[in-house]
Amino acid sequence: MGTTKMRGRIMIIGAGGVATVATHKCAQVPEVFTEILIATRTLSKAEAIKAEIRRRCGRDVRCAQIDADDVPALAGLIEDFRPDLVLNLALPYQDLHIMDACLETGVHYIDTANYEPPDVARFEYGWQWAYQEKFRQKGIMAVLGSGFDPGVTNVFTAYALKHLFDKIDYLDILDCNAGTHGHPFATNFNPEINIREVTQGVRHWEAGAWVETPAIIEEGSVHFSFDYPEAGPRESYLLYHEELESLVSHIKGLKRARFWMTFSDNYLNHLRVLRDVGMTRIDEVDYEGCKVVPIKLLKALLPEPASLGAGYTGKTVIGNIMTGEKDGRTITRYIYNVCDHEEAFRETGPQAVAYTTGVPAMIGSLMVLTGVWQGAGVYNIEQLDPDKFMEGLNRYGLPWQIVEHEPLP
Ligand code: NDP
Repeated sequence: MGTTKMRGRIMIIGAGGVATVATHKCAQVPEVFTEILIATRTLSKAEAIKAEIRRRCGRDVRCAQIDADDVPALAGLIEDFRPDLVLNLALPYQDLHIMDACLETGVHYIDTANYEPPDVARFEYGWQWAYQEKFRQKGIMAVLGSGFDPGVTNVFTAYALKHLFDKIDYLDILDCNAGTHGHPFATNFNPEINIREVTQGVRHWEAGAWVETPAIIEEGSVHFSFDYPEAGPRESYLLYHEELESLVSHIKGLKRARFWMTFSDNYLNHLRVLRDVGMTRIDEVDYEGCKVVPIKLLKALLPEPASLGAGYTGKTVIGNIMTGEKDGRTITRYIYNVCDHEEAFRETGPQAVAYTTGVPAMIGSLMVLTGVWQGAGVYNIEQLDPDKFMEGLNRYGLPWQIVEHEPLP
């Protein structure tokens, strides 16, 4: 693989909130992203993004209808458009099918969420790591998890290890959404994926083993109030998140790794009721002769995450607190980004949760297309050099800060 063949052609799969942001950001960098195709299941959604990009950036992008689970049809579309890179912003269910189509056509792959089988609420990297040898032999790259978390939080860790620490012992990732969207209940990214994630049992890494604790809506869930920069104190819940798996395996010697996310009492109460009445079930139920999956029906009833931007106020604050050693001293550093919902909406349409995912998806794509990241095989983002990506965050809308901090208990 080399950079000489790269012509800056990107195929973006999906047309939800994250894809809307990523496509806008790619369109803003025409010197790298020379041709853009949005391929998704519902063509009208791709066409709406195309119209917005024409209005905001004066650029034309192409659109195509595709079911990404149909691997031969997707491989055919890739053959027709001949992208240098496929950016998967559909759902985690599509990851393996899109990777298969990339392998068949010899095109690099990048995504923001790890594979999850539709019929089991379980996510882990094992399924995608199993493609390592196939991607290596084909001489192409699969970059996994180029969103914010996973994504930027992995790069923050790699950057800290490269520039701030000799060794990281304790890692805490803290994800705060201190915004208000004005709906009684809504999720900030795909409701089905979001609810499956947050209703699961929790794990964190400590002393060489995974420690299990109750799900965020169960008795005994672990939470504490953390005082976030610009957002103030927010109740933060221990949650299992996919980057813990890859960071624990790639950042050697971590004594503890935890992930925390803020939730309001209102959100948790709604979720408990939905769970208690069976609306979060992922199996089929019979309703008057029709087969219905309750969580899919719930998704159809809730606001589309891409539509939440108008009127969303407040900020997201996401970052890592790390304690470790530097030149024989124990130090703690906090690296974080603050993103404003209203500014995100003004620039690209969706709210800050989609913005903080779509921007790193564009930056990761830019790293591959410009040859900053090269390789053959399957990579988690912390395995790749962080420096240019960190520069990209400052340049393309997600500036970060590093401050001293107290170690977390
Ligand atoms: P949305 O539900 O808003 O959008 C998903 C899009 O994928 C929709 O346009 C949908 O089409 C399309 N799609 C679904 N199935 C198929 C298929 N079989 N073939 C083609 N297109 C399909 O989701 P979001 O934009 O909120 O999230 C996108 C991804 O980003 C998800 O995987 C999510 O987990 C991930 N994410 C990652 C984060 C991170 O920080 N790493 C944070 C937030 C999200 P249709 O319109 O027809 O339904």
